[in-house]
Amino acid sequence: MSENLSAAEAAPTAVEAVIIGAGPVGLFQIFELGLLGINAHIVDSLAQAGGQCTELYPDKPIYDIPALPICGAQELIDRLLEQAKPFNATFHLGQEVTELKALEGGKFHLATAAGTRLIAGAVVIAGGVGSFQARRLALPGVEDFEGRSVHYRVKSASDFHGRDLLICGGGDSALDWTVALCEKARSLTLLHRRAEFRAAPATVARMRELVSAGKMQVLEANATGLRRDGDTLKGLDVHTADGRDLALPAEHVLAFYGLHPKLGPIADWGMELEKRALKVDTEKFQTSIPGIFAIGDINTYPGKKKLILSGFHEAALAAFAIQHHLFPEKRQFLQYTTTSPIMQKRLGVAVAGSH
Ligand SMILES: Cc1cc2nc3c(=O)[nH]c(=O)nc-3n(C[C@H](O)[C@H](O)[C@H](O)COP(=O)(O)OP(=O)(O)OC[C@H]3O[C@@H](n4cnc5c(N)ncnc54)[C@H](O)[C@@H]3O)c2cc1C
Repeated sequence: MSENLSAAEAAPTAVEAVIIGAGPVGLFQIFELGLLGINAHIVDSLAQAGGQCTELYPDKPIYDIPALPICGAQELIDRLLEQAKPFNATFHLGQEVTELKALEGGKFHLATAAGTRLIAGAVVIAGGVGSFQARRLALPGVEDFEGRSVHYRVKSASDFHGRDLLICGGGDSALDWTVALCEKARSLTLLHRRAEFRAAPATVARMRELVSAGKMQVLEANATGLRRDGDTLKGLDVHTADGRDLALPAEHVLAFYGLHPKLGPIADWGMELEKRALKVDTEKFQTSIPGIFAIGDINTYPGKKKLILSGFHEAALAAFAIQHHLFPEKRQFLQYTTTSPIMQKRLGVAVAGSH
């Protein structure tokens, strides 16, 4: 708390442009701005860059990225990060942007839940379908324990060593943490509403081995209530698939029910919305607030298609519009990376014909 406060009280950092959302389209925006000599800061509520590609389908192949007949979703993100590297963007990850306000004089004040504050000349919202939030354990009173004894992610695995744990869920996160913590915990029960698991088969097999070895138990059941003694979590009440009501003791509950996107604060920043997307024009991809641009899945305009390819095009045109917004007196030229010495200098590559 005091850390957040002191960060919030520090003077905000002045930046040329800030990108909200480090999905594929936000990452390409770093590159397009960089080519025009504009430095960017980029913020994402997730702990890593990649948006939907990394969070929802990292191992799946994508077939409609130009010139890449097949590209893994995580591979695409890795390539975009590599391509953007020469432009040294500053990444603020694991921070939801909670506030965006226009200031007198045309600049913007942006604040994150972690206390970072930026003053930007232009803002690009590349927020996709919204910021990803963990699905919560839907039990009355759960908010009293969240972050203390009910967890949706593991910050430090050692916090759970020697403890009685209940892990809920049937996907990769639930199974990975079950296997990782099983021999470190005092006791571990995995709770899943169905007999089938969605996690990697090898991890499911390992979990079954641990059950056979008597090191943990797995239960097909739904959580129905929290067991508490005042402020202390005592475990969960569960209803099993074969009709029993059980009280399961635990000191910590780790619930991995996946993530869901939340448009959240973006909807409160005063820009015109249509069907939960930001309305933009197709010349600049500017929202109803001049100086705030929106690209990728978050925007809408006649004919919009939510494809990565469309987002890349939008990032290229938005970059020119941002350059004009920041430096209205500057004449704009279209330059090719193949032949432009200044772009090649910015990219850090040898200037063609210079040796
Ligand atoms: C299973 C699946 C398969 C797909 N396959 C294809 C395909 O083959 N080809 C194709 O073109 N498209 C495909 N798509 C769609 C593609 O993934 C999206 O079009 C693309 O991810 C959009 O990129 P984006 O950068 O606009 O947004 P996203 O990838 O959604 O990233 C947005 C980021 O913004 C962050 N964010 C939002 N709000 C805030 C906030 N307030 N503060 C901080 N951060 C915030 C989010 O955390 C997120 O990381 C697929 C999608 C899915 C789910």
